[in-house]
Amino acid sequence: MLGATGSIGTSTLDVIARHPERYRVHALTAHRSREALLRQCRVHHPRIAVLERAEDADWLAEQLRSAGLDTEVHHGEAALSEVAGAAEVDVVMAAIVGAAGLLPTLAAVRAGKRVLLANKEALVMSGALFMGAVAESGAALLPIDSEHNAIFQCLPAEHRGGLARQGVTQLLLTASGGPFRGHDHQQLAAVTPEQACAHPNWSMGRKISVDSATLMNKGLELIEACWLFDARPEQIQVVVHPQSVIHSMAAYSDGSVLAQMGNPDMRTPIAYGLAWPERIDAGVEPLDLFAVARLDFEPADEQAFPCLRLAREAMQAGGTAPAILNAANEIAVAAFLERRLGFNDIARLVEEVREQLVVTPADDLALVLEADQRSRQEALAWLERQR
Ligand code: NAD
Ligand code: MG
Repeated sequence: MLGATGSIGTSTLDVIARHPERYRVHALTAHRSREALLRQCRVHHPRIAVLERAEDADWLAEQLRSAGLDTEVHHGEAALSEVAGAAEVDVVMAAIVGAAGLLPTLAAVRAGKRVLLANKEALVMSGALFMGAVAESGAALLPIDSEHNAIFQCLPAEHRGGLARQGVTQLLLTASGGPFRGHDHQQLAAVTPEQACAHPNWSMGRKISVDSATLMNKGLELIEACWLFDARPEQIQVVVHPQSVIHSMAAYSDGSVLAQMGNPDMRTPIAYGLAWPERIDAGVEPLDLFAVARLDFEPADEQAFPCLRLAREAMQAGGTAPAILNAANEIAVAAFLERRLGFNDIARLVEEVREQLVVTPADDLALVLEADQRSRQEALAWLERQR
């Protein structure tokens, strides 16, 4: 479990704990949240726990020893890739947030694991390379992002070889619209991190909450869908659906539209990924259609929320453009959360950084990581100039 202490990590442990006969945790990893990781180690008894810093790892090792637990504690980036590729491991939940998840997620893919992919940024950054590694190793890649999990469920079991061959004409990617649906540019100028993180339907980590508010999340998901389902950006339509009950759809040439529905609870896609092709209890309340009562649909407002357009353009540009977009966005979101940047400036920063940087081919990991670094530096310089 990469990113065990986060929102997805916690939900995953909740599902796993319902099925002790099926699953045992080999390793739990976290960035710096050592108390949370200690609590999880007490409950789930992993063989290995990983934290970023040596001082946190020492602290955790000491606490575990005094609690009489024999979990080994490792630290640093290399330890993440080691546990993700370990021989004892069958399934890896990739739930680190952001580019930090790329190397360990790739390690799991290269080791041919069943990879439950929540960490969309890893795929967005390195799409061609990532999917190439999946094909080469025979890893089973199961999308955990609710929209992609829904599309996966709505496609034929063998959807390799392109959508057209399966009679699929369009993927309909649903979006809640986030907490600021209906706001115009001027209203958005004044919104705060607290408002951005108060999502109407989903409770998530802070970074993805801000991405949902700017619609960058939908943009990253559009790129993610292109890679996962071998689709072109034009084959994907974003549909704002404020109830978040339909998690996405696939439209077929005979006029059929298949939707996957359910309460907005990430334990459903997590349980699906864990048990696929079987189904297991996820602890999710059954969907009450009378309580939902109605389903609304509207187009996304790309005037007020330009990040969706920026992501589509990055996918169309290809090469390292999505990696550049993603890295600039990570810096912008962090600055917004620290109140050093206004909400509308997130898109401005991303667009201006993109215009500054040269896009190169992305068929080599070194080129992807270099683009990520160049973009971060350019974004930090942009922030510096605004002061
Ligand atoms: P979160 O912030 O709640 O948790 C992130 C986890 O990653 C934590 O365990 C943290 O310790 C770890 N982490 C953070 N930075 C790290 C670093 N530099 N090195 C190692 N570990 C690090 O995030 P989340 O909401 O659980 O999201 C995780 C991923 O899943 C993101 O990519 C997000 O886009 C995706 N996702 C989340 C949801 C959701 O409902 N939360 C839905 C769909 C997709
Ligand atoms: Mg999603």
